[in-house]
Amino acid sequence: MPPSATPTTSAPEHVRYMRQALVEARKSVPVETAFCVGAVIVSSASHPSRPAAVLATGYSRELPGNTHAEQCALDKLAPARDGRMDADRDALLEGASIYTTMEPCSTRLSGNVPCVQRILATRIQHIYVGVEEPRDFVECEGTRLLREQGREVVLVVDPEDPGLGKECLRVARGK
Ligand code: ZN
Repeated sequence: MPPSATPTTSAPEHVRYMRQALVEARKSVPVETAFCVGAVIVSSASHPSRPAAVLATGYSRELPGNTHAEQCALDKLAPARDGRMDADRDALLEGASIYTTMEPCSTRLSGNVPCVQRILATRIQHIYVGVEEPRDFVECEGTRLLREQGREVVLVVDPEDPGLGKECLRVARGK
């Protein structure tokens, strides 16, 4: 397999939010056919009067049904109506970041809307991932699709714990 071309970051705030996403991932109940993933949505700090803040968290199957972490976080923030978010919530997500322990899915065997499409329906600009999706279930093209639409995808690496990505994968596989 060729090495990942995804850029990385080791900035402390990104490591901290990724660890928070990992705490979320651990809350999900393992199942045979899906990963255990955690997600944290953080607002943009672009305005001095509005520092970055956690807007929502989510984990796999937190909400009823075969729900994904990113989907749960977005739905907890503002349930999509007809696939669209209301204007206030849309503004809240302007330039926001989502931290997810695994690359957002691009294909769902269940026929549900993939998380990549859900993210692209918002103004979330930065997608921080703990690990890229292994080919356990489907081949994921999440990173490529997000980038093609002008979103930034960055892999979070903890300089003090090089095992962060492996830990995201271990938790994802329910171990
Ligand atoms: Zn997903």
